[in-house]
Parts: sequence; structure tokens; C-alpha cells
Amino acid sequence: MGIHGNATAQIVLEGATGSLVGQPNKGLAAMFVMMNAARLGVGNQSLGLTEVAFQNALAYAKDRIQMRSLSGVKAKDKEADPIIVHPDVRKMLMTARAYAEGGRALAIYCTLLLDKEHHHPDDKVRRDAGEIVALLTPIVKAFLTDNGHIATNACLQVFGGHGFIKEWGMEQFARDNRINMIYEGTNTIQSLDLLGRKVLGNNGATLKKFGKLVGQLVEEEGVNEKMSEFITPIAVLGDQLTKFTTEIGFKGFQNPDEVGAAAVDYLRVAGHFVFGYMFALMARTALREIVAGNTDPFYEAKLQTARFYFAKLFPETATLMRTARAGAAPLMNTDAALA
Ligand SMILES: Cc1cc2nc3c(=O)[nH]c(=O)nc-3n(C[C@H](O)[C@H](O)[C@H](O)COP(=O)(O)OP(=O)(O)OC[C@H]3O[C@@H](n4cnc5c(N)ncnc54)[C@H](O)[C@@H]3O)c2cc1C
Repeated sequence: MGIHGNATAQIVLEGATGSLVGQPNKGLAAMFVMMNAARLGVGNQSLGLTEVAFQNALAYAKDRIQMRSLSGVKAKDKEADPIIVHPDVRKMLMTARAYAEGGRALAIYCTLLLDKEHHHPDDKVRRDAGEIVALLTPIVKAFLTDNGHIATNACLQVFGGHGFIKEWGMEQFARDNRINMIYEGTNTIQSLDLLGRKVLGNNGATLKKFGKLVGQLVEEEGVNEKMSEFITPIAVLGDQLTKFTTEIGFKGFQNPDEVGAAAVDYLRVAGHFVFGYMFALMARTALREIVAGNTDPFYEAKLQTARFYFAKLFPETATLMRTARAGAAPLMNTDAALA
């Protein structure tokens, strides 16, 4: 498919002599230091692609005129309305914007945790921060790159036929993002790492630690009426996620394929739980600024994006939990269909 964001090469090592670098049997651990950095890196690359695709699509949607708004003419001076008036065009644009803003918040959140992990004077704070980054790493890798796929394709779609044409550059964003779902461990492998190792592997202890942080926000803001539209969804999903995790763990004891069958859906649910927390934190800051009299439209845009996110993207968690609960049987009892 080609990849333009990175310079890549294939090296053939047939007949070469290998020599051991470092201590025997320590290679895998050393490799994972690099892999974890790479996984956060590709998540960030998809975040960049999501943002640039959004910016291009937004400019195009304001410029391109096509048909009239369903609710009456908007641009009387033009032969047609700009396509940004159409609800579905706005949905595509807002999807990209919400995934870019949620992803950016999560990337910064992880960066702060990494600083704590490496530099905080308190040993416990260092260890807790490291554990939470380890939990979030497969989510950054898989959720941000899957969202990048959705967002770059939505933004390409905003261009209509021009999206398919090379000169506009939109097809390159979609194509470059596609690789991020594959390399540094496919997104399925990320989901197995999350559910199998990081969650079930320690009986949900790290997930509980992260859940406590969310719980703290719910407790602080649960009584704030203005925050309820942002707090209620994460409080509800937090409870559902605990139950959902226990259920999969129990089924997995009896049949390990149940974990493999649920993992991809599980990662996306966990991704929304984390994004929900990010959007609630951003909404809190925005509301505080607005109440304090700050009229910068930046804060109103944050609230609008958070509202869109909770209304239109976050609810897919219900479907994902339902499909995960359908279990391994519809996948594994398919020998005739896959013969
Ligand atoms: C453009 C490009 C650049 C790359 N650059 C590098 C590089 O610089 N260095 C490097 O080392 N590698 C590089 N890779 C390799 C890349 O990391 C691998 O292709 C990737 O990790 C997937 O491994 P694989 O191709 O062996 O797929 P496979 O492991 O064969 O997987 C095939 C499919 O099966 C699924 N699958 C496999 N095992 C399981 C399982 N246990 N449970 C569920 N599903 C499973 C996968 O998710 C995938 O969908 C690059 C790849 C590409 C395409």
C-alpha cells in the first residue's frame, strides 16, 4: 500500500552471522522497552493523522457548495450551501475532532505519568505511574490507531470524489494510518496484552487503580448538575466494566478462547472508558473557565465536542459489550463455513 509518513526498508539477512548483544535471555525484556515506546509512538502518529485530516476536511466543508440545507437556505449569496450545513458532514467532522481531542488528552496524560514514573522522588508514586502507563499503552496503540482509521476515512469521505484523488492528500492519511493498526504488534495482539496480561493477569488490580482515579472525579463532580452529562456515563460504564471484566475472566477459566473472542471488543470499551474520563476532565476545566467569565470560544468548543462524544461515539460501548458477551461459540463453531 505504500507508506509516506516513515522511511522504511526491508533488509535480507540470509547467510549473515549474528552476535549476541548484552546478556543471554535478557533480550525480550530489552526489546519491550523499545516496543512500549514504539506503541505509544504509533498511537501518536495516528493522532497526528487524525488532526491533519480533520483540519483539511473542515476547510473543505466550508468551501465546497452542494445542495441546500434541509432546514432552509443558509448561504443566500451562493448557488448552493456549503456542505458543512449537512448533519452527516458535521457528524464526520465532529467524529474526527472528538477522536483527535480525546487522543491528545490521553497522550498528554500518559506523558505526565511517564515523567512521574521516571522522575518522582516517591517510590510508590513512581511504581503506580509505571503500572498505569503499562495498562494504557495497548489502549494508546490500538484505540488511537483504530480511531485514526475511522477519522481519516470519515474526513476522506467529506471530500466526496475528491477524497479518492491523490492530489488532495486525504487518501495518503487513510493509507498511512492503516499501517499503524498492523505494526508494533497488531491491534488484536494489543487487545490480548490488555485483557490477558494487564487486566486478568493481575486480577484487575491495575484496572482498579485507574478506576479509583475515575471514581474520585465521579465523587467530586457527582453533585455538580452541570457536570452530570459528562459524569453519569463514565460512572455507569465504570460499574459495567467491572462486571464485564469479571464475567470474561470467569468464562476464560473454563475456555481460554473466550478471552480471545472478547479481547478486541474489550479494548474498545476500555478505550471509551479512558476517553470518557479525559472528556469529563476537559469539560470540568472548560466549565470552570466559562463560569469565571472566560469568553474564549476554545472552552465552548471543548464542551460541544465532549457533548458530541458522549452522545454519538461513547454509546457504542453497549453494542461492544453485547457482541463480546455473545462469546466464542459463533466464532469457533464455524468449521463448515470456513472449510
Ligand atoms: C510497512 C511495515 C513496516 C514494518 N516495519 C518493521 C520494522 O521496522 N521492524 C520489524 O521488526 N517489523 C516491522 N514490520 C513488521 C510488523 O511489526 C508485523 O507485520 C506485525 O507485527 C504483524 O506480524 P505478522 O506480519 O507476522 O502477522 P501475523 O503474526 O502473521 O498475524 C496475521 C494475522 O493474525 C493475527 N494473529 C496472529 N496471532 C494471533 C493470536 N495469537 N491471536 C489472535 N490473532 C492473531 C494478527 O492479528 C493478524 O491479523 C513492518 C510491517 C510493515 C507492514
